Amino acid sequence: MSNTPLPHRAASCLCGAIRINVTGAPLSTYLCHCRACQKACGVVFSSNAAYQADHVQITFPKGDDPSSVLRTFEDDKSSDSGTVILRTFCAVCGSRLTTQRLGSPDRLVLAVGLFAGDEGRQADMKPTSEYFCVNRAAWLGEVEGGITRLDKMV
Ligand SMILES: [Zn+2]
Ligand SMILES: [Zn+2]
Repeated sequence: MSNTPLPHRAASCLCGAIRINVTGAPLSTYLCHCRACQKACGVVFSSNAAYQADHVQITFPKGDDPSSVLRTFEDDKSSDSGTVILRTFCAVCGSRLTTQRLGSPDRLVLAVGLFAGDEGRQADMKPTSEYFCVNRAAWLGEVEGGITRLDKMV
């Protein structure tokens, strides 16, 4: 038995109205090059860390009313599987926060960029998979040492 404590990671949106604390290592880490992620993030790929939902704690350190700062966009069009994706974002600063498949409440996917400033993310958030590689920007290389590369989501 190891007594090594589970890692804690601290994330926040750009304005700091929303803070996200996670415990333990992510279930999976991946880049997604799908067009929906490109639009939603304003970047040519999304960088994601999936966690067990009960290992994620979302707080509002400025005392904001959660429903006024944490907004959810129900994305019912972009998923190839036909699954509705719940995309949350900060209503104040626009940071993209989490994605979750409707009907999969146990799994919550966090945008890795939110952990900027937490040095620990370097250790356990390197992506091991890439999805929708068919949409990868032509000038962008593959992740070195990446394990799984697929042209769709699994
Ligand atoms: Zn914010
Ligand atoms: Zn995607």
